[in-house]
Amino acid sequence: MAGCNVQNPETNNVIDIQGLKKSYFLGNMEVPILHGIDLCIKKGEFVAIMGPSGSGKSTLMNMIGCLDRPTSGKVMLMGKDTNAITDNELAELRGFEIGFVFQNFNLIPRLSAYENVLLPTYSNTKKGMDTSGRAQDLLKLVGLDDRTEHKPTELSGGQRQRVAIARSLINDPSLILADEPTGNLDSKTSVEIMDIFSDLHQKGRTIVMITHDPEMEQYVDRVVHIRDGNIGNN
Ligand code: ADP
Ligand code: MG
Repeated sequence: MAGCNVQNPETNNVIDIQGLKKSYFLGNMEVPILHGIDLCIKKGEFVAIMGPSGSGKSTLMNMIGCLDRPTSGKVMLMGKDTNAITDNELAELRGFEIGFVFQNFNLIPRLSAYENVLLPTYSNTKKGMDTSGRAQDLLKLVGLDDRTEHKPTELSGGQRQRVAIARSLINDPSLILADEPTGNLDSKTSVEIMDIFSDLHQKGRTIVMITHDPEMEQYVDRVVHIRDGNIGNN
């Protein structure tokens, strides 16, 4: 089955994955994890990837986010074949077009909320972007305009995740990848975080979220089930 079925993949598909396989190697032993995944995600979709622990969700996310290379198969992002572009182009794609949110927030403890949001711009900045103004605006967007100088240890889990979401948006990416973003949060805080993602989705952002929590299904357009490294019928 082809990953996508639309006429113009260059404009409509943020993600087009075809025949994606990933193995890890333990010494000389090959351990296959993803067994040939086809997946297409269109611009503006909010998709949840669900499956048991160890089924390959994070491995798949790492391939989509170009944090790791497939063993074989094709990963197209915004119409670009990630195997066929230079390392510089790949770094730009990862830095400018993808925002990452993780379960454990991945904030730098010694930096303030504001500095954490700016972190992705330290190595490379999109031309013409007022990054400091944008960081302030994003902290306001996630409801933390009165916490900009606070360090992560002075913030609650939910507030830390809000900082991480603001950070993921700093370069105005086409795609947000979130790996179990509510996994460390209580249910009330999870709802608050999902409301933020929902709002981003309403504004047209493409979001792919790994989650264990069936409650999250209500927020998304589509659920993709993964089991033992294969995508099932939905
Ligand atoms: P999930 O996110 O669904 O819990 P993962 O994608 O993290 O699953 O892991 C899938 C499988 O791949 C697991 O069996 C895990 O042990 C294995 N795995 C993940 N990362 C590595 C790695 N870097 N080296 C070897 N095995 C790995
Ligand atoms: Mg995982």
